[in-house]
Amino acid sequence: MFYTIKDTRAALKNGEITSEQLVKNAIDTFEKDKASSIPLNAFLEMYDDAVAKAQAADKEIAEAKKSGQSALDELFNKKPLLGIPFAVKDNISVKGHRLTCASKILEGYVAPYNATVITRLEDNGAIPLGRCNQDEFAMGSSTEYSSYGPTRNPINREYVSGGSSGGPAAAVSANQALFGLGTETGGSVRLPASYCGIYGLKTTYGVLSRWGVVAYGSSLDQVGLLAHTPSDIAAALSVMAGVDFYDDTSADLPSAKNLADLKAYSDSEIAKLKIAIPKQFLESKGLMDDVGTVFNGVQDWLKSKGASIDIVDLPVLDASIASYYVIALSEAASNLSRFDGIRYGRRVDPGEGYDELYVKTRSEGFGPEVKRRIVIGNYVLSEQFSGDTYKKGMTVRAKIQSEMAKLFESYDIVICPTCPTPAFKLGQKVDNPLEMYLSDLFTTFVNLARITSISVPAGKTTDANGAMPVGIQFAGAMFEEEKILRLAQAWEEDHAGCGVPIK
Ligand code: GLN
Repeated sequence: MFYTIKDTRAALKNGEITSEQLVKNAIDTFEKDKASSIPLNAFLEMYDDAVAKAQAADKEIAEAKKSGQSALDELFNKKPLLGIPFAVKDNISVKGHRLTCASKILEGYVAPYNATVITRLEDNGAIPLGRCNQDEFAMGSSTEYSSYGPTRNPINREYVSGGSSGGPAAAVSANQALFGLGTETGGSVRLPASYCGIYGLKTTYGVLSRWGVVAYGSSLDQVGLLAHTPSDIAAALSVMAGVDFYDDTSADLPSAKNLADLKAYSDSEIAKLKIAIPKQFLESKGLMDDVGTVFNGVQDWLKSKGASIDIVDLPVLDASIASYYVIALSEAASNLSRFDGIRYGRRVDPGEGYDELYVKTRSEGFGPEVKRRIVIGNYVLSEQFSGDTYKKGMTVRAKIQSEMAKLFESYDIVICPTCPTPAFKLGQKVDNPLEMYLSDLFTTFVNLARITSISVPAGKTTDANGAMPVGIQFAGAMFEEEKILRLAQAWEEDHAGCGVPIK
């Protein structure tokens, strides 16, 4: 029933399908999934006003049709995403609907306003379909740290979907939504995209407003997009990007207009590209052979088009994961102090007064991984250690930022695998936090450097028990979204179905 945004728009215009059918179909799939013995668990809840919003979209389309083709074209020019349902990660506010960050501490909380990204999508006709699962407070790489059960991988339900935006990634991969909104602090859109065989874009820091998005690590957090094609991602990004009065860190994306109708790079344009591969990622001990093989395939494709590829030496990247976890956990410890049982969500009986209220609410409300991170973050920030650890983390980050900026003076795009391994089995890493953290080995440098990167479904493993998708990243300098999306679209047009086949 679901196609790409592009195909669905055409089907809505010519009356082949209605938005109401799309939404009702998704709700039906959700109900069936909930009742199944191994649920995918991509959505936690379908919004109860989605059908009404879809009916309103259908009405607008029907009214325009009465006035003829040019009125219809004009309507879709004004609202390019009219009637298109999308999945929302559970840390993005949709007015009047629950938001929990997959945490018990936010049980009962209802968002009082829309995130700016939601408002912009709705202004352009898109329909928020439902709230999707994630790792609690976006901390994790598998969606197993959700308080509402894991999200499974649609390709093989014995495997994790990746995280922390596992819910929206699985929803898109399983054709339960046409695109999804996730968030990135250290790879949480690209990693599940890679595990689920779809495209996932992390935007340049500032390009998407964070107003109404629950903070994890504020100097790193960004909203990201998940879809079956780069051109679908570009179409949604073009209406969402840009300065927002409510977010001082927001920035203009100069190419936003060109993204509405993304053009793949031609062969002659690819031939002019200068590509770099950091040696540190190629030589990483954790890199699984099958992932290396898929990566070689992408390099061969680029070379066959005439692009030049150099291996570059960036020793500082070896410290990116350590720097990331120091900074992210410090910021998280500070950001999560607001969940105290007074202002938001759940409150445990105060007993002896405020101190006890805080302790009880936070002890019962947060899951073990979030608590671990709050403890580590506070330890790192404590007076005796902050000089040693936090400042070192920040020094490494500054070096990563400056070295990446320097690299992009000579190169157009950096490529590397999205993750060292494909999706792993449920339960495999959940009790080993360090191993879980190492899933982010190739993603965090992008967030630290505040640049942009897309995970591209590039092939599959050769596992005899069932091949799993492998994602490769195309990373670009700050505000170079158009460049990496155009290259990714060229890949898509040459390899359609390399990820999850579009039904
Ligand atoms: N897996 C990383 C972490 O747990 C990244 C999470 C994210 O990007 N939100 O911190």
